[in-house]
Amino acid sequence: MFFWRQEISPGRWVAFTSTGAGNLAQHVGDEPASVLRRRRALEAAMGVPGGSLRFMNQTHSADAVLAGPGPISEVAGADAQVCPDGSVALAVMVADCVPVVLSAGPGPGGASAVIHAGRQGVLTGVVANTVGLMRRGGAQDLMAWIGPAICGQCYEVPQDMRREVTAAVPAAWATTRWGTPGLDLPGAVRNQLTTLGVEVRAVADDPSTLCTLDNESLYSHRRSPAAGRFAGLIWTT
Ligand SMILES: [Zn+2]
Repeated sequence: MFFWRQEISPGRWVAFTSTGAGNLAQHVGDEPASVLRRRRALEAAMGVPGGSLRFMNQTHSADAVLAGPGPISEVAGADAQVCPDGSVALAVMVADCVPVVLSAGPGPGGASAVIHAGRQGVLTGVVANTVGLMRRGGAQDLMAWIGPAICGQCYEVPQDMRREVTAAVPAAWATTRWGTPGLDLPGAVRNQLTTLGVEVRAVADDPSTLCTLDNESLYSHRRSPAAGRFAGLIWTT
């Protein structure tokens, strides 16, 4: 069910699911009732009430929204959500794009957030928008976990696209294993976070398992576009 999970402070958890949790997205042509059943199973494994995990209707925007308590299970049109006191369980869905989980620390009651950072989001500032929204609410000592995503050695793009993206985000420059232009989105996100003064924490014991295209226990849009989405999560128990 979980690719990796960790209790980062007493009662606060960060995790990324594996294909063992199944597809969690309603927009990839899967049976809606099956997706809902998997979300309920995931919530049970997390130890949170059924229906409380907050997903986003992700649009590759740079928009970050506040997630307050309430009955909504899917926020409309956003690519990052922030819970000011960490009380709402948050989810971001990905398959090659970069899932980022953030927490203020240390101590209970700090803000939490999740970000969907794809090529568009990396370019248009979804990471900075989210960190800004957390800090405007008083969050301090931010920590981040960068989840599994397609790596720079696997993410091939046209030369023009690499030029366009790296003109704005130089840290995204990459060359694939086979020598063609690539983009290193996890590296770019790491650079953006550290530039903003956010401490990036380790995910997984072996970093070589973090590439979605290489690791078949994760969903990859490039490997199999209709297969599904896994999730990055933060919650409090
Ligand atoms: Zn790779």
